[in-house]
Amino acid sequence: MPQLSKRTEVFTESVIRMMTRISNEYGAVNLSQGFPDFEPPEALTAYLREISVKGPHQYAITWGAQNFREALAKKHEHFSGMKVDPNSEIVVTCGSTEAMMASMMSVVNPGDKVIVFSPFYENYGADTILSGAEPIYVPLVPPHFDFDANVLEDAFKKGPKAIVICNPSNPSGKVFTEKELRTIGELAIKYDTWVITDEVYEHILYAPNKHVYMAALPGMRERTIICNSLSKTYSITGWRLGYVIAPPDALDRIKQVHDFLTVGAAAPLMEAATVALAFDDNYYRELQAHYTHMKNLFTGGLRDLGLNFTDPQGAYYILLDISEFGYDNDTDFCIDLASKVGVGAVPGSSFFREDVNSLVRLHFAKQDATLNSALERLADIRKLKK
Ligand code: GLN
Repeated sequence: MPQLSKRTEVFTESVIRMMTRISNEYGAVNLSQGFPDFEPPEALTAYLREISVKGPHQYAITWGAQNFREALAKKHEHFSGMKVDPNSEIVVTCGSTEAMMASMMSVVNPGDKVIVFSPFYENYGADTILSGAEPIYVPLVPPHFDFDANVLEDAFKKGPKAIVICNPSNPSGKVFTEKELRTIGELAIKYDTWVITDEVYEHILYAPNKHVYMAALPGMRERTIICNSLSKTYSITGWRLGYVIAPPDALDRIKQVHDFLTVGAAAPLMEAATVALAFDDNYYRELQAHYTHMKNLFTGGLRDLGLNFTDPQGAYYILLDISEFGYDNDTDFCIDLASKVGVGAVPGSSFFREDVNSLVRLHFAKQDATLNSALERLADIRKLKK
């Protein structure tokens, strides 16, 4: 067989998707890959039914349907206070996964360095490899996932082209404070570095935490590339609707990369989703209340079982401390958890650069019945003790 590419040689199957497969194999309650098992808003699916008949069914303009981009700009302005030009500052992508890939490919050259906080969402590692870059990892130190500004500056001194910030953060649940974002922003300005943000959990926050938009901070607009999506905010992870908001020059390049990567996002889904982008503040308040309920149900149950875990400020994941179980490999633990206890989780080692084997990630974007069933099964978790 002719040889395959060197660049992709190091790839393995995504651990998150692998754990979904393993959970399904064992009929486990799948709390590994983060996606809701409840329905999206009724208004959205009702309009989708209408669109399925009346269209559009052909390609939208490559950078995203005009009315969809206009609706995105309006919604983003409402929450961030930033005025965004839908024509020169937004491109619609196939999920924020493509948004991040297209952004990284547009700003980094092979051999460039990119700062990534650890723990990190596993795709960032793959994105840097695909764009030929080398990640520099800066630890977010548990239990509060703080970073040391001196360690961060040392990373900036290595001359990175970009820094990636996931805020609210998957898997740690950290919500970066304005002070922390200003510290990062000042370093990005000092060392002339792009800031690529992943803000897909911007509306999934637990009081009193607030989402601060990096791009809205002084001096940051012109160097910040925002990656976002509708997946989490409107419970439509399968629609694959993402977007990038960036300064016009950078966006021009991202548009071109996007055009050749995927041509465009699904036209009927963009049209249907315009309904969601027009929801008023009540929707976001209810979303937050719903997530707070799910978090309280799940973390309350874990606490009753005497388990130790991180309590998130945002997003919908917890990191469960498995040190009491005596495993030296967290993947083995997750396989046993799926096959013997019946709950799917993701090994923490897939998110950490550091040698961390004592944490596993579980998510709680699920109906009460699913969470209760997971908790019932987890009541037996100590049978895994070695
Ligand atoms: N962001 C979600 C997670 O971390 C889903 C990842 C994916 O499979 N696209 O689980």
